Formats: sequence, structure tokens, C-alpha cells
Amino acid sequence: MTADPLAIARDLVRFRSVTPEDGGALDYLQSLLKRAGFAVHRAVFDEPGTAPVDNLYARIGTAQPNLVFAGHTDVVPAGNEVSWSHPPFAGEVEGDTLYGRGAVDMKGGIACFVAAALEYLNRSGGKPNGSISLLITGDEESVAVNGTVKLLRWAAERGEKFDHCILGEPSNVEVIGDTIKAGRRGSLNGMLIVTGRQGHVAYPERAENPIRGLNVLIAALQAPLDQGSEHFAPSNLEFTSVDVGNPTVNLIPGEARARFNVRYNDRHSQTSLKTLIEERAKTVAAAGRVHYAIEWQPSNADVFVTQPGPFTDLAIAAVAEVTGRKPKLSTGGGTSDARFIKDYCPVLEFGLVGQTMHQVDECAPIKDLVTLTAIYRRIIERYFA
Ligand SMILES: [Zn+2]
Repeated sequence: MTADPLAIARDLVRFRSVTPEDGGALDYLQSLLKRAGFAVHRAVFDEPGTAPVDNLYARIGTAQPNLVFAGHTDVVPAGNEVSWSHPPFAGEVEGDTLYGRGAVDMKGGIACFVAAALEYLNRSGGKPNGSISLLITGDEESVAVNGTVKLLRWAAERGEKFDHCILGEPSNVEVIGDTIKAGRRGSLNGMLIVTGRQGHVAYPERAENPIRGLNVLIAALQAPLDQGSEHFAPSNLEFTSVDVGNPTVNLIPGEARARFNVRYNDRHSQTSLKTLIEERAKTVAAAGRVHYAIEWQPSNADVFVTQPGPFTDLAIAAVAEVTGRKPKLSTGGGTSDARFIKDYCPVLEFGLVGQTMHQVDECAPIKDLVTLTAIYRRIIERYFA
């Protein structure tokens, strides 16, 4: 079967699969994979307050090891479509570049993996020496509740076992081969609430302004959380909003709030991090007699690192063989579905170059699609060698 990553990527870009819509993208992958001999399953997940989302699991081979490729066909909205130089869902090629929403994040990555797998199967008589699987969700870019997290559980309940995973998110910074992501920081959201006593601004002695206390606490909580670790940059707490909501000029408010987010490394767990922040707040608040509370939002984004080992070495060698570059192992950036996959098997993230993701005129150079396909093929060949 012919396996042209550009043709597959163009086809995929043309489906309007803005989360939670699928637009036909998974049907397309299903028929492509079925023709190549994959057993393909679909699973629609739902829960109250969210839109149902379609997902796909495909596997060829029944033996272990099972190398799984994970990705998402959903995309972020195009924004103002007239500001694009090429319509975002047309899959147009101009010169040596494919334009469109999802070209790099991550329909392009999926196209490269599918092409690599089909090429590998062509050459190995249609069967891997083990199993190749694809876990493709339609719910990554939005709330990510009816996607990979449930698809993994669904697959595990069916007895599926994954040995190693490549997640095809655009991991590279400048050029294909510069970065493999081997872990992610955790993310935790909190709200700091300081209470005072409301009063007339001309009689401050009869009131207690919570903004003063909030200032003190904000300053204290911005102190460094650590110095970083072997695989991670220092953790960071960033305030994202300070809110009093006071429409009146002569009123001291009764309450002031500040929202913050922490991106934390493997020196912390969610529990230890909360304790550290609460202790700091407590010390400063006691000194200034500030009345406060911290409300934590539940988080499913724990920190993790994929320890260097044979799988990491294999991926690095495949990248080096195709590009001549030795990729850096990074744990930077935001969270991804790797946070769910890591509970089932070691996961590395490697895909296209992320520079235009989520932007107007998102695009992938055709040579990058070709290079990424060659790298995925080398990963598969080495894995089953
Ligand atoms: Zn993505």
C-alpha cells in the first residue's frame, strides 16, 4: 500500500475536527488502517456536562511487545479564518509547505506515523514482530476528559498491554531532531482568598483592607520553590489574576482574591507542594495577622519523568541516524496526554516542529513530514529488530 505522509496529512487537515467535532477524521484513519490489516475499534466516551467524543484504537499483531503511537485528531479553532493566507481546512500546499490547522499539532504527526507503519509492514510481509498500535483521540485540545484518559482505561479493560509509547506531539523547537520530550512538569491551580472588613475609605481605622494582606501574601508566595532537579527546570508559581471586583471608589472591600498556577518539577508531589505553599502563607499571615484561605483545584496533571534507558536510547539513535542530530531530552512546556499514558508504559514525545502550532497559518514543511516519517520508521525497525 502506498504511504505518502503528505497525502495523508492533507486528507486529515480537510476534516473540520475542532474539539469535540470529529468531522470524519477517525473514519478516514479507520479505513486506511483496516486496509493495512489493523483491527480497528472505536469508543465514544461521555460524561455529564461534556460533549461525547469519538476515539480510535487500532492494533496489528497479537504478540508483545506492543509499540503504541498516541495522538489526537482534534484541533483548536482556526480563529478568524480570513486572516489565514490559506484556508485553515483546505490542506493547501504552496511551494514546499503544507498549510492548515493541525498541520503540525498534530495531524501531520499522525500522518507520518501511519505512513511509517504502513511502509514498515510492506517490507516485513504485513506483520510486525510483535504489535503496533495506535491510540487516537478526538479530545486533547479542550478539556481532555473523554479522550486518552478513558481510552487507556478502556483498552486496559480489554486486556491490551502497552510496552512503550511514542506520543506524536510537536516536540521539536527549531528543527526536526532537536528535542524529545521525556517527561512533563506538573500543574496545579490555586486561589488565595484574603478576608478583611468592609468599610468607608475615609475611616480606614474602622475597616480592614484585605488588599494589604493580599499584597504581602503574593510577595511571599513568589519566592523560589526549588533550584530545579536533574531533569527539570526550577518550579514556578505564577499569579494569573488579582480580583477585588469593587466598582465603588469610596469603599474598602471585604475580600480580595488572587489566582495562581504552579508548574512544578519532580522535587514535589501535589501534596508536598501544597504543604510548602500553605506553610509559607501561614508564616507570613501570622506575622501580619492576615486572614486568608487557599482553595486548591483538583489536578490530573502530575509531574513525571521517563527515565533514560534502552527505549530512550533507541529513539535518540533513530533521530541521529536520520538527521545527524543528537536530540536533547526535555521536560519543558505545558502538559499533554503523556501525563495519562505514563501510568501504563514509558512514553516519549516526538513529532514535528512546534513553532506554528495553534497559530494563524499553521504549516508544516513537506521535508519535515518526510524526515519525521523516516525517523518513525527507524524507531519501528529498531524496536522490532
Ligand atoms: Zn497537540
